[in-house]
Amino acid sequence: MRYQWAVATHQGRVRRNNQDYVHPQSSGTGEGPLLVVVADGMGGHVGGEVASRLAVERAVAVEGSPADKVKAGNLAVFEEALKNPELAGMGTTMTLVEFAPDGKATIAHVGDSRAYLLREGELTQLTSDHTVVAEQVRAGRLTVEEAAGHPQRSMLTRALGLSPDIDVDVYPMDLAEGDRVLVCSDGVNSMLDDEAIAAALKDNSAEEAVWTLVEEANRAGGHDNITAVVVDVLPR
Ligand code: MN
Repeated sequence: MRYQWAVATHQGRVRRNNQDYVHPQSSGTGEGPLLVVVADGMGGHVGGEVASRLAVERAVAVEGSPADKVKAGNLAVFEEALKNPELAGMGTTMTLVEFAPDGKATIAHVGDSRAYLLREGELTQLTSDHTVVAEQVRAGRLTVEEAAGHPQRSMLTRALGLSPDIDVDVYPMDLAEGDRVLVCSDGVNSMLDDEAIAAALKDNSAEEAVWTLVEEANRAGGHDNITAVVVDVLPR
């Protein structure tokens, strides 16, 4: 397979800084392995930025499986917070996707950033959010509509950096030519519903798609930092 990817990150219209961090930092093409990581930091006034960046940098630097990379990112943030009391409590989400040359991909995921697949025009969410509200929906105690406007919708049940051990969701998948994968922070999907996300992903290049998502999320309010990576699966 050949992959073509595009990356956009923006602080949005409300936040004063961008606590999201993304790898790679720019668009490109290649045969893989390709590692795509989106992290959305939280905590204090610098903590969120430190956590997301540190976690991503460590994750991409270590050898091992996608889950090992997320665990290494977790430990890096946890240890840094122990050394610096002003960073205590910092944490981050991480959605990491490894794209192999043979078209297999593996997602390793903690938190409420997301991966989606657009295949033959249909959008599917590939990850499950680790939030109080999403868990209530899975348990049948809240509807999807109630969850969308819920005041506590971004309260995480799992994040990197808070404990030396972490439970990582792993999803293996087989990609096909023509597939498009989106990895994004919740600044995209908290502002845009699935229909709007699908519309932004259709009938344009990867580069146009990521910037359309940023524009549309900002048009809808831009309440949070916005990060989107689109990866297209092309014939070799
Ligand atoms: Mn966010």
